[in-house]
Amino acid sequence: MEKKYYLGLDVGGTKVEGAIAILNSVDHSISVLSKKRIACVQETESFTINLVDLIHDLLTTAQIKMEDLKAIGLGLPGTLDPKTCIMLNGNTRFLVGFDLIATLREKLKTNTPIVAQNDANLFTLAEAWGGAGLHYSKYKNVPFEDQVVVGITLGTGVGGGFVTKGKILSGANGSALEVGHIVLHAGGNKCYCGQQGCAETYLSGTAINKTMDSTVLLELAAQGNSDVLQFMIDYRLDLVQFLSIINNLFNPHYFVFGGGLSGQGILFEDLKTDLEENIFLSKEYCPEIYINHLGDSSGLFGAMIYASEKLHS
Ligand SMILES: [Zn+2]
Repeated sequence: MEKKYYLGLDVGGTKVEGAIAILNSVDHSISVLSKKRIACVQETESFTINLVDLIHDLLTTAQIKMEDLKAIGLGLPGTLDPKTCIMLNGNTRFLVGFDLIATLREKLKTNTPIVAQNDANLFTLAEAWGGAGLHYSKYKNVPFEDQVVVGITLGTGVGGGFVTKGKILSGANGSALEVGHIVLHAGGNKCYCGQQGCAETYLSGTAINKTMDSTVLLELAAQGNSDVLQFMIDYRLDLVQFLSIINNLFNPHYFVFGGGLSGQGILFEDLKTDLEENIFLSKEYCPEIYINHLGDSSGLFGAMIYASEKLHS
């Protein structure tokens, strides 16, 4: 029997989500057989035990065996060394320097290919392959292979991914598109990376929560609270400047947003109109702006799509 199943895992700062699915390479649809989310324990040994249990649970629910998997794809929240896939940096500190692929291979006792990639890169790949990219392809007549795409994740941190000709750009050392560490305000907020004024310290959910719980903040904004509205105006100015810098570097067909904050429509209303005033070319060349089409699962679907691409490259 030909193997057709992929297992994807998306490791976040607070949770790990996994799924087993079949990828349809013709219409770019994804048929999910099993899916589960667990909390992310911030210590390598317990983390690994939980991850192995999660994988076995997913196989049991999907009623398949480890040998039936074509490959396993992992999404990790940081910069990965392109050769070893070990995390070199990231705000989920316990994973930095931890060889997760080797550990999993040993614990699972399997020869099934295991690949890993930065989670924001995978988010971008998934959205281009089977999410926002399908919409763009239909309305603008630009197929996936010809699209130039930047993905931005606004969650615990701020991540970015770039996909062109259907491939992820990782850079020489895996840190391409670490857009969260573009300095927006020289001498501004301190960042864990050692710089001051990084975009992550202004635009992430963590940054907002330092001012106020983000849910409360959005409620107050909807009620017209003037302090909160000023905060939102400042946030939007930072966000537009941030996108304008990235647009000047990568000139994408579209931006696609993911992460917890991307569900907060008020932060993104008419964002394209604001961006149009801040791009080098005239406004008809302004990139489209999409909120993710695959929801919370973009990252783990991206891990499967990446695993599939690596097998066929
Ligand atoms: Zn930083």
